[in-house]
Amino acid sequence: MDIRNAVIIGSGCSGHTAALYSARANLNPLVIEGHEPGGQLSITTLVENFPGFPEGIQGPELIENMRKQAQRFGAEYMLGHVTSADLSKRPFLLHVGKHQIHTKTLIIASGASARWLGLPHEQQLIGHGVSSCATCDGFFFSGKEVVVIGGGDTAMEEANFLTRFATRVTIIHRRDIFRASKIMLDRARNNPKIAFITDTVVEDVHDVGQKEVTGLTLRNLKTEQAYNFPTSALFLGIGHEPNARIFEGQLEMDPDGYLKTRDYVLTRVPGVFACGDVVDRRYRQAITAAGTGCMAAIESERFLEEHPE
Ligand code: NDP
Repeated sequence: MDIRNAVIIGSGCSGHTAALYSARANLNPLVIEGHEPGGQLSITTLVENFPGFPEGIQGPELIENMRKQAQRFGAEYMLGHVTSADLSKRPFLLHVGKHQIHTKTLIIASGASARWLGLPHEQQLIGHGVSSCATCDGFFFSGKEVVVIGGGDTAMEEANFLTRFATRVTIIHRRDIFRASKIMLDRARNNPKIAFITDTVVEDVHDVGQKEVTGLTLRNLKTEQAYNFPTSALFLGIGHEPNARIFEGQLEMDPDGYLKTRDYVLTRVPGVFACGDVVDRRYRQAITAAGTGCMAAIESERFLEEHPE
């Protein structure tokens, strides 16, 4: 049986960083790329908050550079996603399509996927005014009017953040009751640049022809009236889904499905480490994901020193 030293699930920032460190420790890691190779950076445009790039760098280029850097030291990459895992004994067993992979240590860097609204033209305008990350993309809308969707803490936080750049931020929520904590909601309500539209859903975003967001079709759920709403950007603050379902019953999770760790990256199963956005609902930044990816790789290396078999 071929047993790997280290397998990394996920090829976003945390996965590539874990791969780089594991490869430089001569562990010959295998990265299983997952549903969205490159993770969330691969659908971003300009990244201006990753240190080391004074002029910024395109998200796909940054992630490709990380992959090349890990490959230079011997990391292997495999297309596919893990459909099931048995963590009950070592070596751990993973199923990737029809392949079975055995590994002494496992680094879970499977990320979290932003929830999208499922609008007819939403996906085509991602990176052109449709975004799930105000921290990443807010700067591009200086002096513009923008919209944030959602009624939770993320939506309030993103809206407040966006008022640093935008002249006006409109929060559109499908109900008139908010999940957001009172303090976050009050902060948004007291911000003179933020307006609210409630009981309203978005039916579509325009304009694919111009390759930029020019407006939304909204529908008021009480009156059933549909109307156009001009805006330069659509920010989604409707939550994220951690990609950890396959570990249900084997690893500890919080009620929303994020993996629980102690000492940053240790799961309750010795030899299994978790890093990046599948653990982190709080920061969700490329640099923090890279940081915990590095920690997971170092922990896996130490684990292998103590448990060579
Ligand atoms: P939440 O699940 O709390 O809120 C999601 C919001 O999006 C809800 O208002 C929901 O509406 C709305 N929504 C979901 N799906 C759709 C849809 N298809 N169409 C329209 N609206 C939709 O997610 P958050 O990301 O806001 O927060 C997640 C967790 O992270 C929370 O525990 C939060 O407290 C925490 N957090 C804390 C922060 C802080 O303390 N600084 C910052 C950000 C998050 P509805 O209410 O109708 O279901």
